[in-house]
Amino acid sequence: MQKDGKYDLETLAVRAGIHRSQFNEHSEAMYLTSSFVFDNAAQAAARFSGAEPGNIYSRFTNPTVTAMQERLAALEGAEACVATSSGMSAILATVMALLKAGDHVLCSSGVFGATVQMFNNILAKFGIQTTYVDGGNPADWAKAVKSETRLLFVETPSNPLTEVFDISALADLAKKSGALLVVDNCFCSPVLQKPLEFGADLVIHSATKYLDGQGRVLGGAVLGRRELVIDLLFPFQRTAGFTLSAFNAWVILKGLETLSIRMEAQSRGALGLAQWLESHPGIERVMYPGLASHPQHALAMRQQKTGGAIVSFIVKGGREGAWRAIDNTKLLSITANLGDTKTTITHPATTTHGRISAEARARAGITEGLVRVAVGLESLDDICRDLDRGLRA
Ligand SMILES: *Cc1c(COP(=O)(O)O)cnc(C)c1O
Repeated sequence: MQKDGKYDLETLAVRAGIHRSQFNEHSEAMYLTSSFVFDNAAQAAARFSGAEPGNIYSRFTNPTVTAMQERLAALEGAEACVATSSGMSAILATVMALLKAGDHVLCSSGVFGATVQMFNNILAKFGIQTTYVDGGNPADWAKAVKSETRLLFVETPSNPLTEVFDISALADLAKKSGALLVVDNCFCSPVLQKPLEFGADLVIHSATKYLDGQGRVLGGAVLGRRELVIDLLFPFQRTAGFTLSAFNAWVILKGLETLSIRMEAQSRGALGLAQWLESHPGIERVMYPGLASHPQHALAMRQQKTGGAIVSFIVKGGREGAWRAIDNTKLLSITANLGDTKTTITHPATTTHGRISAEARARAGITEGLVRVAVGLESLDDICRDLDRGLRA
């Protein structure tokens, strides 16, 4: 890649981050090695002191991981990327590297269940307090800011309710408050949304989802300015060892090559499914940012290229109705993962959000009738037919 900055996302997705070895392989090589060999003791010393750049040990850097980081950074338009072993370790690394005891986090109430667990049960033990804000009204966020607030954390669209947050407005608030805005961009991927362009300081990914895109490996990433990612996060990562394996990095690197066509095809399927569900008699309400009925539809269309590939809906009949719809599918996979080429169906209240308190669940709007479908690459007709059986039962 010579002319950086001159290529479109689709081109960068297959070409960025390539450093060919002496064998001139066409597909990217996979470097399964824990350490790297030095020419002599002086070179080892120079590498360890930082006087000479280069690989030392795969907890620090590995060429396959570097390739994946460079490619993802090119797609997000970020100066730097640190890959991690999972999406959760990306969030933990960010908080541990940037915050200290006594600091405060403002978080949207509709975030991934494990993220809430992490803030409440783990980070609280180390003196980092978190307040949750309901909804996306910037005035409510402003009211919740304290003098100790150092981080604003938001997932947009949120999981599973697909609530959309105004990244620019929250970035302004973060700047005014002396805090950093962190956006979990899992649902959109850089193909549909680039939070850094709207003023976010850091982007988090669970690479487990769309970046791999085929349900094979766990991975994560943090992206943003060099002074945050390279100067603060990387030293933490190299010591703490939340490292992404070279094998997983390679799988994700190859997944990125098809990210754009997958996101567009899966978004098309999701829009079709959402429209079909909206007129279905077994459904109370459909939540999809691409529908005109979505409360933040206009904002979503400003920030995102499509409504995304996740559709959530409330089935009539509460938990019984939701479970009946799920159990009557024959094609869809009953599993908690999302972002796969295979369509998945989940009951958030008893799975991904089952460990948070009933009160917190209610506040976040995770009702018993709620079902989340992450649309894959099957035909839309087959997906609708599969769901119709349970919804009519
Ligand atoms: C899955 C997910 C995570 C956590 O990622 P893992 O790779 O499972 O650790 C974080 N945020 C969102 C929005 C997710 O969907």
